[in-house]
Amino acid sequence: MTITATATAAPFRFFDLRVLRAVRVSPAMIRVTFGGDDLATAVSGGRDQRFKLFLPQPGQDTPVLPEDLGEGWYAQWRAQDPAVRAVMRSYTVRDLREDPAELDVDFAVHGDANGHGGPATNWAQAARPGDRVAVLGPVVEDNGGVDFQPPAGTDWTLVTADETALPAVAGILTWLPAGTRAKVWIEVPHADDVQDLPTAASAEITWLVRSPGHASPLVDAVRAAELPTGTPYSWIAGEAGMVRTLRRHLVGERGFDRRAVSFTGYWRRGASEEDLLAELS
Ligand SMILES: Cc1cc2nc3c(=O)[nH]c(=O)nc-3n(C[C@H](O)[C@H](O)[C@H](O)COP(=O)(O)OP(=O)(O)OC[C@H]3O[C@@H](n4cnc5c(N)ncnc54)[C@H](O)[C@@H]3O)c2cc1C
Repeated sequence: MTITATATAAPFRFFDLRVLRAVRVSPAMIRVTFGGDDLATAVSGGRDQRFKLFLPQPGQDTPVLPEDLGEGWYAQWRAQDPAVRAVMRSYTVRDLREDPAELDVDFAVHGDANGHGGPATNWAQAARPGDRVAVLGPVVEDNGGVDFQPPAGTDWTLVTADETALPAVAGILTWLPAGTRAKVWIEVPHADDVQDLPTAASAEITWLVRSPGHASPLVDAVRAAELPTGTPYSWIAGEAGMVRTLRRHLVGERGFDRRAVSFTGYWRRGASEEDLLAELS
C-alpha cells in the first residue's frame, strides 16, 4: 500500500519506507537503514525515542495496513486478520539523519539454535535494499515517545539495559549534557557486541557479557555496585523480569524515589509482542 500525507495520528504519522541497506554491526546486532520520500518530515526527540514498525508477513511484498490510517488506525489494525495484517513491533530510533533523510534501526537478533527468532528478527536477518515497511514515527520533538526524563535536581543517572535497549542507551548517552554523571550497565550476548558509545557526559560504562543458559548478570552487578551519593535518576529497559527485579531493588533496597525510576519491559521471555498487547486489551 502507498501511504498518503493524510495518514496521521499526531504527534506521530505513518511513513512508507524502504530498506536502503542492512549491515551486521556485531554478532547480535543488525543495523537496517531506511529511506522514503517524506522521511524528511520525521523528527526524533532523541534519547530512547520509540516508534512502531510494521512489517510484511512472510510471502507479502508490503505490510498490510488498515485503509484509514487516521486516529482510529489501532482498532482497525486489531480487527484485521492476524495472519494477513502487518506485524507490528516497537523499536527505537538509533539515528535519524537529514540530507539525505535516513533512519537507522538496530535489531537485536534472537532465536533458536537454527537462527529462527520472532517475525521482526527473521525479517531483519533477511532484509535487502528495496524491502518495504511502514513506520508510525514522530513528527514533533515533544511526542510522548521518550521515557528518559530526568527530573530537575538530578545529581547522577543510573542506566541499565540489555541489547534490545542498547540503541536507546546510545541515544541517551548522545543526549546527556557535558559533565553529567552517569553509571551505565549494558548486557550483551557476545563480547563482540560491545559498541563505541560517544558521549559528552562523565559516564562510567560497564559491559556485561551474558553466558548462554545463565540469568541476566545485570541484577547482580547493580546489587553489588557502590553507587554515588546525591539524588539519582534511573532508567531501566530490557527483558521484563530483569526490569522488574532491578526496579524493586532500586526502590526497595536502595531507597530510590519511585518517581525517579523510569522502567520499560522491552520484551518478555516466552511472550511475543502480540501476546503482550493481548494482555492489555
Ligand atoms: C519501547 C521499545 C523499544 C524497543 N527498541 C528495540 C530496538 O531498538 N532494538 C531491538 O532489537 N529491540 C527493541 N525492542 C524490543 C523488541 O520490540 C522485542 O524484542 C520484540 O519482541 C522483537 O520482535 P520479534 O518479532 O523478533 O519477536 P516476538 O515475536 O515479539 O517474540 C517471539 C519470541 O522471542 C522472544 N524474544 C523477543 N525478543 C527477544 C530477545 N531480544 N532475546 C530473546 N528472546 C526474545 C519472546 O519472548 C518470544 O518468546 C523494543 C521494545 C520496546 C517496547
